[in-house]
Amino acid sequence: MSQTTNTDDPATAFAIALKALERIRGLGQIPDPPTFEVWFTYFQGHNQALVRDVDAAEAECLSRARVHSIRERHFSSEPHFGQFLSVGEALGSETRKVQNAIQVASGSAADYGIDLQSAAEALGGGRADLSVSELVKSLVRSTDAIQQTNALLQAQLKQSEDQFRLLQENMETLRLESMTDPLTRLANRKYFDFSLSQATTRAEDEDAPQPFSLAMIDIDRFKRFNDQFGHTTGDDVLRLVAFTLKNNVRASDLVARYGGDEFAVLLPNASLEEAMAIGDQIRKGVAERPLLRRATKETLGYVTLSIGVAAWAPGESAVALIERADRHLYEAKANGRNCLVGAPVRPS
Ligand code: GH3
Ligand code: MG
Repeated sequence: MSQTTNTDDPATAFAIALKALERIRGLGQIPDPPTFEVWFTYFQGHNQALVRDVDAAEAECLSRARVHSIRERHFSSEPHFGQFLSVGEALGSETRKVQNAIQVASGSAADYGIDLQSAAEALGGGRADLSVSELVKSLVRSTDAIQQTNALLQAQLKQSEDQFRLLQENMETLRLESMTDPLTRLANRKYFDFSLSQATTRAEDEDAPQPFSLAMIDIDRFKRFNDQFGHTTGDDVLRLVAFTLKNNVRASDLVARYGGDEFAVLLPNASLEEAMAIGDQIRKGVAERPLLRRATKETLGYVTLSIGVAAWAPGESAVALIERADRHLYEAKANGRNCLVGAPVRPS
């Protein structure tokens, strides 16, 4: 798949959409929006990185979760865009309702003010055309009217308050979803990158520096595992590793899915030695846990991890730190896997 196609032309766009649908049907999957988006983009051919990922995944087996994870990787800034739009629209409409209600109420209050004013003038000026009882009746009518408007305004405000609360909850759900990897429910790459950049800034703070360490973790021979037991079981393994990672870190550590079978752990206020100790605890926690097939409880063997650890060095950028931890990770792979490598920064 290397051609690119202009989808501004309706005929071409329909042809691509049909191709996408045929492929989804061929895979026996559901044409839900994320799946359709991946395949439409694939046949469109503009996003070469996505095409490469899909081709690589298709050479193995493309589960629905896998397609969703490809989408998450390539469109991570937009997955909830549609929902954000509808929440935004709903907020706009509620705000307009409140504005209208306030306008009606202030109109009524102004009318009431005019009524009071003319009553005062009539009383003070001793107008012969209006008796006191007529004046009182007219004031009671005005008071009733403003009370009704107030009751309406209160009901409207109460309704809007409920709507605002609901929208706030929706926004919170969307905020959390936009930071979460859908397969493992760990923090996603986007949130990890954001947290790492914040940790780097805090570490640089001259008044209260907060150094930190980073562990990059990759599952050993995971491809083989997928080939042997299938992608659905592979997905279960990713979830199990995610669960074990979470259970072996401190509450202050951030565990994220970095991509594919690679994970990252951000360890605030951890020295290299402390981070290596936590990393080794993670490694052992995973290696000691036999994998069981969910349906049959049959033992599938063991999964192991290779881990690279690096402690942030003063002046180091987030990218340089990841590269250093990644280098250690590849040293761990080269050392035979199921091990951890971490080393202090070598003086240059
Ligand atoms: P190594 O020990 O060198 O890491 O070997 P490996 O087989 O694990 O190699 P690598 O890390 O390059 O392979 C990653 C594999 O992870 C490739 C791909 O099949 C698989 N993978 C990536 N994302 C997913 C996913 O969401 N679900 C499943 N089941 N597999 C995935
Ligand atoms: Mg791997």
